[in-house]
Amino acid sequence: MSTHVAAKTQTDERHLLVRLFSSFNSSLMPRIPTPEELYHPVANHPVETIANLDRVPIEDNREPLVDLRRACPDLRLRPLNRSNLRARQSVAQRLNEVQLWLDTHHPGHHLVIIDAWRSDRMQRRGNFYGRTFLRLLHPNWPKSLIREAANKYIADPDALAPPPHSTGGAIDVRLDNAQGRCNLQGPRLKLSASRTDYSPLPEKARQGREILCAAMEHAGFSNYEEEWWHWSYGDSGWALRSNQPKACYGRACNFDSVLDFHTYDVSPNLETNKVNQTD
Ligand SMILES: [Zn+2]
Repeated sequence: MSTHVAAKTQTDERHLLVRLFSSFNSSLMPRIPTPEELYHPVANHPVETIANLDRVPIEDNREPLVDLRRACPDLRLRPLNRSNLRARQSVAQRLNEVQLWLDTHHPGHHLVIIDAWRSDRMQRRGNFYGRTFLRLLHPNWPKSLIREAANKYIADPDALAPPPHSTGGAIDVRLDNAQGRCNLQGPRLKLSASRTDYSPLPEKARQGREILCAAMEHAGFSNYEEEWWHWSYGDSGWALRSNQPKACYGRACNFDSVLDFHTYDVSPNLETNKVNQTD
């Protein structure tokens, strides 16, 4: 293959991967991160490293996953990638508490759920795109840095600590008000603006984030500091951030073929579980 053809093939591959990567949560990841934003992920992100998360003990309480359409009828569900959303039972109850708190303290505001439980296959696919994208952008980065940098936004499915969205304890949210969607991201062309404490934010976005944080924290959720939209209860990140001795949710898997259900059997390990259908 000539140098010209090889370079063109690499460019085509890169464009394809950029498109694939961008299609994953595209509304949350509005553009390609710069090397400066992704480099030194550990230095800029000292708490929730893969190693720190892996050290959190997990004792799964085997709470079932529930369908949020049934468990949270008053919430707005706008799934990005699927027609339904699932989470652990306590998480669903806490989401209802969030909406009640909003109704009381900020009438007209609505919590909107855009992502919740992910299957191992979905998580693996997203992390693969992330790592491949980073490898193409930074062919000289060592594997360990690629892994840590990808994990910052799309958790590694092979880490000891299960990816937050694989536990049923993590959710991605946004906020609506009477006028429609609140813009909490602020400057869309800056990945660093995704950090919850990013400053300076436009005043409306800052106020919206404050309302969201107050509502979610009231219900016991904790926020992943790199993404204002990502909150969790019960997973390893939640335990680390909240100084809990252990996580109460391990991996909950793996029911891609089941379209309708009430409850699932869950497992703290990688084995495929049996479906426990109640109707
Ligand atoms: Zn998330």
